[in-house]
Amino acid sequence: MLFPSNLEELIDQHHPVRIVNQVINEINIDPLIARFKGGGTSSYHPRMLLKILVYGYLNNVYTSRKIEAAIKENIHFMWLAGMNKPDHNTINRFRSDRLKGVLQEVFGQIVELLVDQGLINLKEIYTDGTRIEANANRYSFVWGKSINHNKERIREQLKQLWQYTEKIAAEELSDTEPIEFEKLDGQVVTQTIEKIDKALGGKPVDEKINKKIAYAKKHWPSLVTKYNEQQKILAGRNSYSKTDPDATFMRMKEDHMGNGQLKPAYNWQVSSSNQFIVNYSLHQDVSDTNTLKPHLEQYEELYKILPDAICADGAYGSEENYELIEGKRIKNFIKYNFFHKEQKDQWGQNPFKSDNLFYNESKDCLYCPMGQPMEKIDQRDSVNNHGYNKRYSIYQAKNCHNCPMRGPCHKGKNNRIVELNHKLRKYKQKVRENLLSEEGLRHRRKRPVDVEPIFGCIKHNKGYRKFLLRGLKKVEIEVGLLAIAHNLAKLSV
Ligand code: SF4
Repeated sequence: MLFPSNLEELIDQHHPVRIVNQVINEINIDPLIARFKGGGTSSYHPRMLLKILVYGYLNNVYTSRKIEAAIKENIHFMWLAGMNKPDHNTINRFRSDRLKGVLQEVFGQIVELLVDQGLINLKEIYTDGTRIEANANRYSFVWGKSINHNKERIREQLKQLWQYTEKIAAEELSDTEPIEFEKLDGQVVTQTIEKIDKALGGKPVDEKINKKIAYAKKHWPSLVTKYNEQQKILAGRNSYSKTDPDATFMRMKEDHMGNGQLKPAYNWQVSSSNQFIVNYSLHQDVSDTNTLKPHLEQYEELYKILPDAICADGAYGSEENYELIEGKRIKNFIKYNFFHKEQKDQWGQNPFKSDNLFYNESKDCLYCPMGQPMEKIDQRDSVNNHGYNKRYSIYQAKNCHNCPMRGPCHKGKNNRIVELNHKLRKYKQKVRENLLSEEGLRHRRKRPVDVEPIFGCIKHNKGYRKFLLRGLKKVEIEVGLLAIAHNLAKLSV
């Protein structure tokens, strides 16, 4: 070569790297720049660092060391970085610290650009979720149940010791304040054992009790403190991983051992429009049902509007979610469990199914298949772990004993009892109408080819099956980068 070639000339006009460059040049990154304090040595420009990270995620180059290497070897990275050579520490610090709390806004701006180009809309969204394995040891589990059980055992044994002491040394304990066994912590345990020890001092005490007090003094305060800390980390979850305490153990579709082993993971929720991601959120909750509310709140915060219609599978169809959607005046195309079964004759027309029994609202009674009125005998409330209250009305038939339909209708010895949740029944009725309408059919046809391919693309095509970073906030950055990279990859197709 007579002259060294220009990088610009070597890059194809329609190469995805140009799309990444162009789109990230167009967005406002002031909130990101504000994360950099002035002074010190000059830093690499955050726009350039953002470009190379997004381009890395678009090209399945995820680790900071591989991105550092690509910046030195790959002409697309070189061009994007403007021949700067940030090292892996700089890239990692930028990803883990600087992008925290601002990436969602960057993502939102990119989505709005896509809306302006007419590629997507924010009116009809398709929501689904997937679990991706956390960067944590698979065997580092802490189970909420065993913590509760162990703590309960210590509480019971401490109570027994206290009761024993009250019997033997009632006089010594007469002016002692009652022990708060319900609020057990290290300090309460230490003080209680000290009181027991003091009260029993010099009394003829069983050798076993003496040994137990010595053991309790040595171990219980630290154990109870540890259990309390673990319960704080769990924050209502059933499990967490010691190597990434934000990750929860979940059952995964990818089960290479074929033994249904739970793995530390996060639940990633995505809403899509024309296979572009329009909203994403990351959750520690195993179930999709509980993620819809925070997911929609995030959508509203990002775009200051709500979608007109939402379509999702049966995993989201709960009374709580239906109430939420109705309250936000969004058209509901969220299936409920058994929606498909219900459409089949054997299920939908089965007169014995409790959902198919006729309900007379004015008399508040059900009619069984024999036409016998089933009167309301009771009601019960069931509160889920978010405090949402579901009310069930209980109805009982009057005389099932000599009924000719007893065989297919009712197997029990007594008269048939049916529990009904009226609120859910009404929501289901409305959703059924929506789902069976022309618009509903269109959404149901589109949902599996709109949102589900996103996960197929990221997990299968890009091979992204395990997060690199640890902790909810950092993993949120990873899914944000994945979402931006996915949208830009689609844009460049
Ligand atoms: S078994 Fe009882 S509930 Fe069922 S049809 Fe007969 S009377 Fe009605």
